[in-house]
Amino acid sequence: MCLNDFHLISVLGQGSFGKVVLSQLKDTGEYFAIKALKKRDIIDRKEIESVFAEKQILEVFSSVQHPFLINSFSSFQTKDTVCFVLEYAPGGDLMTHILEGAFDEHQAMFYAACVLLGLQYLHDNDIIYRDIQLENVMLDAHGYAKIADFGLSKENIRYDDFTDTFCGTSEFMAPEVLKEDSYTRAVDWWGFGVLIFQMLVGDSPFSGNNDDEIFTSIINDEVCYPTFLSLEAISIIHKLLQKNPDQRLGSSKRGAKDIKVHKFFRDMRWDELLQKKIKPPFRPNLISHRDVRNFDTEFTYQNPNLNLMKDRCRITPTEQSLFKDFSYMADCC
Ligand code: ATP
Ligand code: MG
Repeated sequence: MCLNDFHLISVLGQGSFGKVVLSQLKDTGEYFAIKALKKRDIIDRKEIESVFAEKQILEVFSSVQHPFLINSFSSFQTKDTVCFVLEYAPGGDLMTHILEGAFDEHQAMFYAACVLLGLQYLHDNDIIYRDIQLENVMLDAHGYAKIADFGLSKENIRYDDFTDTFCGTSEFMAPEVLKEDSYTRAVDWWGFGVLIFQMLVGDSPFSGNNDDEIFTSIINDEVCYPTFLSLEAISIIHKLLQKNPDQRLGSSKRGAKDIKVHKFFRDMRWDELLQKKIKPPFRPNLISHRDVRNFDTEFTYQNPNLNLMKDRCRITPTEQSLFKDFSYMADCC
């Protein structure tokens, strides 16, 4: 595949590296989200390895088309960018939806269950995710939740393996990432606890006016639970937000299995959910495949092109050669 194979329709979002654009494959009329990252930025920030890690991880789960992870179909490059061709999630991210009000417990439990199955698959394949947050959970056209953005994920992290990069989104970072030299994949279950709290309360369990204040709160504060939360919700959040990772729900060798049997998920039929046989609590409003109402107008009003190179700076042949193995096409294409 190459850029010429697509009509670029609308900008959907802008990440720290590049942009994500709703695109239509000219041949088949199918819609995809193309995530384009600037080569110049990748080189300057010494992020070559992490871009290849993102590509490799996308290939792992896209080979099985996991229902609750944003799958990728192909990757290609232009002179200035590397591009991932991703499954398009027209329902937008959970951050957009929560702006209309916190979710009720049934809705939050449903999205949490989808995210749990996605994380379970990643961990079963020795992948740590490290970036759980509302903005990285997207809704498909039916209302199923899917984890997006594998830019901070890392491969070959098995049960009890340690890793050490300081990364994540401040409000979701686990205390051991802030305090210790290294941490395990139990950090994903901490982030999962923060996510459930935010979905139910519409606010963060640990907050502050800047990163330092947030980090101090994560390390020292106990969570205050609003009285409207059910005992089951308080119990699962409390068990996930254990500051000691060894005592955290999900940190044992059984991993996600321990969380699935918690009474917060008592009504969930896991096998049926995995087969998408359970109806989502909310179906996003959409009138056509090109309807981008679930995305911020700050992005959708932009001109949809991949010309990211305002500060055009030549990439030398040696630098270009760093990307030579980037392109791939999934078996299912
Ligand atoms: P970050 O700054 O979060 O690291 P990033 O550069 O890794 O960003 P993403 O988070 O993957 O980029 O994407 C940026 C935004 O684009 C998302 O928040 C989301 O709104 C939109 N987006 C990403 N992937 C998709 C998709 N598959 N379908 C629809 N929109 C998407
Ligand atoms: Mg993101």
